[in-house]
Amino acid sequence: MEFKTVIDFAIELDNQDPIKHYKTQFHFPQHQGKDAIYFCGNSLGLQPKNTEDAFITELRTWKELAVGGYFNGKNPWLYYQDYTKKTLAAIVGAKEDEVTVMNALTVNLHLLMLSFYKPTKKRFKIMMEAGAFPSDQYAVETLVKHFGFDPNEAIIEISPKQGEKILHTNDILAAIDSAGDTLAMVMFGGINYYTGQFFKIETITQKAHEMGAIAAFDLAHVVGNIPLQLHDWKVDFAVWCSYKYLNAGPGAVGGVFVHQTHANNIDTPRLAGWWGNDEKERFKMEKGFIAKANASGWNISTAQVFNTVALKASLEIFEQVGIEALRIKSIQLTAYLSFLLSQLSNISFEIITPENPEERGAQLSLYFHENGKAIHHKLIENGIVVDYREPGVIRVAPAPLYCSYLDVFRFYEVLKNNF
Ligand SMILES: *Cc1c(COP(=O)(O)O)cnc(C)c1O
Repeated sequence: MEFKTVIDFAIELDNQDPIKHYKTQFHFPQHQGKDAIYFCGNSLGLQPKNTEDAFITELRTWKELAVGGYFNGKNPWLYYQDYTKKTLAAIVGAKEDEVTVMNALTVNLHLLMLSFYKPTKKRFKIMMEAGAFPSDQYAVETLVKHFGFDPNEAIIEISPKQGEKILHTNDILAAIDSAGDTLAMVMFGGINYYTGQFFKIETITQKAHEMGAIAAFDLAHVVGNIPLQLHDWKVDFAVWCSYKYLNAGPGAVGGVFVHQTHANNIDTPRLAGWWGNDEKERFKMEKGFIAKANASGWNISTAQVFNTVALKASLEIFEQVGIEALRIKSIQLTAYLSFLLSQLSNISFEIITPENPEERGAQLSLYFHENGKAIHHKLIENGIVVDYREPGVIRVAPAPLYCSYLDVFRFYEVLKNNF
């Protein structure tokens, strides 16, 4: 589509948007008495309007039924995690058996890495992208140390070529190849949080498997943003959080994918607790852990109902709209943002996120050579919520569920008219 730089064009795109009405299902932070424009859904998604009632329902169950809520509430708590499975499975391209929710992202990363990282003297290395999210770096660093390895030796970080910001798939594959049988695991972010680059999950997985390594992904920035096919791509395991594009609120319960080949095998090693135990046996309180033969076999503690309520509510919206429809809008919305930015000649910046829509999600990362902080400040002053990362990167993520073409145009106007 050919885009134009006039406001009427943005309004026309909104008129034609088949999923535009979903915007009205969210609460927006207020700026000078009006809804702010919110491009920070990659950090914390907005609150869906059905969230509050969902909490009230569970509070009432607790108030009126107390322990009875586990069995007799409107949504019996015993199975609370399971209510998220159907929609999550559709979003990540998994069988329902392969997904569960529990704990939080980094905790789950630790637990799953402990299941799948089986280092030997020869095969002990973990490969990740350089500049991965700090929590992931800390998790991998402390994991290899826990097994007595030196992080400098055991962790292979893939960096962009000199002078470049993003990784070439071929370079990732070549690095996996050259690590060969020293490689125990590839643990990549699905989308790098900083550059917005979406990695070729299937290709990386295939190559890792060729080398006999486990393929694992942190999908914090992907889930709810880009449709996935984790089952068909044969990813071994993946983890994500629910408070970014999934709009489940601060610190909401984390998500986990374990491929059927491992999830259905109750002998796959794990650190266990009673909630992952075969349900028929759970309340017998007997010795000897028997895993559920699915991803829920990794559950450890009692379902965290109040940490899952908002996810359950939010997924009702995803169920209605469908991840494919979201992605179609998202590709165009972000392309429109990219087009408008390319029309600006009054400020100096580069878009470090890949140009190719197949290599990015909603987010564009703009690197300002100077005045990044001042520009960020001006945007906030104008009621546009974006975030700023040193040294000069503003990340802009128009989430297709609640951002419009007009929102994107307003962003462009602020940059055009203030500098
Ligand atoms: C947001 C994010 C996290 C956050 O982890 P928590 O355990 O939920 O605090 C971790 N990794 C990546 C890649 C992220 O984007």
